[in-house]
Amino acid sequence: MKKKSLTVKVLTGLVLGAIVGLLINLFAPGSFETLNTYVFVPVGQIFLSLINMLVVPLVFFSIVLGTAGLGDPAKLGRIGLKTITYFLVTTTIAIVIGLSLASVIQPGLAGDFDLQGASFESEEAPSVVDTLLNIIPSNPLAALTEGNMLQIIVFAVFIGLALTALKEKTSGLLKLMEQGNEVMMYLVGIVMKFAPYGTFALIATAVGSQGFSAMKAMGAYMLVILAALALHAAVTYGGTIALLAKKNPIWFFKKFAPAMTVAFSTSSSTATLPVSMEVAQKDLGVPKSVSSFVQPLGATINMDGTAIMQGVATMFIAQAYGIDLTAMELATVVLTAVLASIGTAGVPGVGLIMLAMVLSSVGLPVAGIGLVIGIDRLLDMTRTAVNISGDAACAVYVAETEGKREIRKQEAEA
Ligand code: ASP
Repeated sequence: MKKKSLTVKVLTGLVLGAIVGLLINLFAPGSFETLNTYVFVPVGQIFLSLINMLVVPLVFFSIVLGTAGLGDPAKLGRIGLKTITYFLVTTTIAIVIGLSLASVIQPGLAGDFDLQGASFESEEAPSVVDTLLNIIPSNPLAALTEGNMLQIIVFAVFIGLALTALKEKTSGLLKLMEQGNEVMMYLVGIVMKFAPYGTFALIATAVGSQGFSAMKAMGAYMLVILAALALHAAVTYGGTIALLAKKNPIWFFKKFAPAMTVAFSTSSSTATLPVSMEVAQKDLGVPKSVSSFVQPLGATINMDGTAIMQGVATMFIAQAYGIDLTAMELATVVLTAVLASIGTAGVPGVGLIMLAMVLSSVGLPVAGIGLVIGIDRLLDMTRTAVNISGDAACAVYVAETEGKREIRKQEAEA
């Protein structure tokens, strides 16, 4: 009952924030600056900081426990392989959906775009090879302080394996981790009480600062992305839940809605992690050990919504510049977009930076990003909601195939 009311409150905050932002944008644009600086931004920032405060310790404790909870390394290997395969396959499906819809609807031919005026600085895109090579932290404490998620995950997996191997000898430390995790989950509950206000403020900022004239010109592009996101959520995740996990997709989306709302307002998979894990464990019945392992990994490397945006944006830019892509080039786009999605950090706007890598892989003008950047903030919200749904769908699927009851029993015994 209580839980339901929180979901309703968060949704109310979201809708009200959008309405207030829109009204100010349309009727009182002059007052937006002041309201934004003194009300929306501070309130939104407090919420973001509160959840970000919990992310690193939560990911660390929960992956240590998840790894230790799975027991033997063989099982961890099997679940790891299953999870990563699922992530790669679904991301590939996502990008193919994005490319296909964009080539049928052709949003890049839907208007006159200012190609001369478009510009984008692309230097910041980190190389995917570097990201992959860097996953072993040479300094784990630095990884924790910098919030380097992949490195934290790797370090935590090692600690979890060691705790499993050392058994009784380290039972005290294991207990400590369990209690640390309890504390973090408790705090997630407290912080979520602030979610309706934070959501309201974040959405008011996002909507209020939008240039709606830019949106009109980019309407077709936005629609293609939204359609592709909806299609992917319904078919790929719905299919996962119905066919692989043998559950009702409507049940899944209904239960998972609160986490999607938070993703929508924060545009950050990482910041949403505390909430999406709580929802998966408490409402979707995913055992802690599976959720703790699959979801943090997914929030870091699995970005289907981002891949969709990159597919559509690539097609859009090619069409706007009048460049045809060959089948070989399309295959290159698929491959680089999958890699880019792995390398994309779960924070706002990074997907667009990684798009530079996809575009340059097939020689498309990186300046084309300048065309889509103006309306990316709103799209970032929707694709982030899809990004984290993919992680949760995978968690439900892995939990189901691993024999949920058996894992639960082990957890109860531990
Ligand atoms: N904001 C997205 C996320 O956190 C990443 C992106 O596409 O920019 O999942």
